[in-house]
Amino acid sequence: MTNTISTVEDGTPFSRALDADWAATLDSLKVRWTYEQGVFHLSDQNVWAAVGTPDVALPSGDRDDVRDPMSIHLLAPDPDGMATWAGANPAQDLILTHCPACDGHTFMDVNGAWQCRICHHGGRGNDNKFWRKEHYRPGELLFIRATALGERP
Ligand SMILES: [Zn+2]
Repeated sequence: MTNTISTVEDGTPFSRALDADWAATLDSLKVRWTYEQGVFHLSDQNVWAAVGTPDVALPSGDRDDVRDPMSIHLLAPDPDGMATWAGANPAQDLILTHCPACDGHTFMDVNGAWQCRICHHGGRGNDNKFWRKEHYRPGELLFIRATALGERP
């Protein structure tokens, strides 16, 4: 029905180019993920990331507990070729931040807990705004295209 392309090292098949491109973008940040039918699970940070805005129910979670799942939508790049995303919950203000404690890139709700979703650095304490030092908002992160890595469908 649709082309199946394998553009990432482990050979995960993607049904859409946008999905493969998001895999390449996540790989460029060393974000760990699994993928199935248009939905990435960012396993280290328990984020469910659906490509586009599919009509599927994703876990919503409790914004006050960083261990609970978070759901986001990975959108098509903007006209400048920058990555864009949105929270499944419109009340969320989602950034992608770099954690100085674990060197991971993690999504964070600025309106929620200021804590690395991977190692739980931050939150309460002296360094609870570590995310201000290095983070991306939608439209600020270069979107990596899988086809630009030399493989084609
Ligand atoms: Zn961390």
